[in-house]
Amino acid sequence: MAAVPKQATPHVFCIANQKGGVGKTTTTINLAASLASLKKKVLLIDLDPQGNATMGSGVDKNSLKSNVYQVLIGESSIADTRMRSESGGYDVLPTNRELSGAEIDLVQLESREQQLKKAIEQVQHEYDFVLIDCPPTLSLLTLNGLAAAQGVIIPMQCEYFALEGLSDLVNTVKRVYRNLNPDLQLIGLLRVMFDTRVTLQQQVSAQIEEHFGDKVFKTIIPRNVRLAEAPSHGLPGLAYDKHAKGSKAYVEFAKELVKRLKQENKVD
Ligand code: ATP
Ligand code: MG
Repeated sequence: MAAVPKQATPHVFCIANQKGGVGKTTTTINLAASLASLKKKVLLIDLDPQGNATMGSGVDKNSLKSNVYQVLIGESSIADTRMRSESGGYDVLPTNRELSGAEIDLVQLESREQQLKKAIEQVQHEYDFVLIDCPPTLSLLTLNGLAAAQGVIIPMQCEYFALEGLSDLVNTVKRVYRNLNPDLQLIGLLRVMFDTRVTLQQQVSAQIEEHFGDKVFKTIIPRNVRLAEAPSHGLPGLAYDKHAKGSKAYVEFAKELVKRLKQENKVD
C-alpha cells in the first residue's frame, strides 16, 4: 500500500465516559503533556463546566477574558480564547461555570452540534493533536465534542460494573457516527487507576481484553497518588513529578498512541 502523506489536519480525540470520576480529565491533561514532551503540538479543549482540565493545566478559570462558551455560541474564536499551559507545553481552550449555561443558548442555534467542529477548523493547521475533555454526561456539549472528533478514547477503571456502562457509551458513539459524524471511530480503551494487587481488577481487565481485543491499549495507568496531587498545584503529572510511575505510564501511553497511528499511516 502506498504511504499516505502526513495529515494536514490534526487528530481530534474526545476523552469520554458517561461515568463520573473515571479519570477522563487526568487522562486528557497527562496525555496532552506527554504528547507535548514528544514534540507534538497539542490543543486541549476543556468541555466540562467544572473546569478541572483548565485548572489542572495551570490556567486560572476565574480570570479568563473569554472561554469555550463564547466560542461555542460564535462570539469568540479559539485563537482569541486559548491560553498556554506553560508547565504542560500545550495550548488550552479554557472553561468555567459559564459554560453550564451553554446548553440553553446552543439549542436555539442551527447546526448546534457542529459549533465546536467549525471553531476547530479555523486553527487546525496549527496542531498535531486536539484533545477534548468531555463532561460525564451525554449533553449537547459532549455531542459537540463527538461531532468534532475523529476518535474517542475511553478511560475506564477495572471495576465490576465497568463493562455495563461501557455498552451505553459504545451505543452513543455508534449513534453519533450514524447521525452526526461518519468519521467517528472508537480509538481505544485505556485502563486507568489500576491496582495490580486487586484480583477483581485483574479479572475485569482480562474480560475487557476478551471483549474489545485490539481496541484495548496495552499501556495500563496505575493508581498513583502523584497523579492525584498534581492538579492542586496546577501541574500535569509530568511537570509535578516526572519520575512518578503514573507520569511515566502516561508517556508510554502517548508513545503507544503515536505508534498505533503511525502503523495506520496516519501520522509522521
Ligand atoms: P468527572 O466525571 O467528574 O469529570 P473524571 O472522569 O474527569 O471525573 P478525574 O477527575 O480525572 O475523573 O479523576 C477522578 C479522581 O481520581 C481525581 O481526584 C483524580 O485526581 C483521581 N485520579 C485519576 N487518575 C488517577 C490515578 N491514576 N491514580 C490516582 N488517582 C487518580
Ligand atoms: Mg473530568
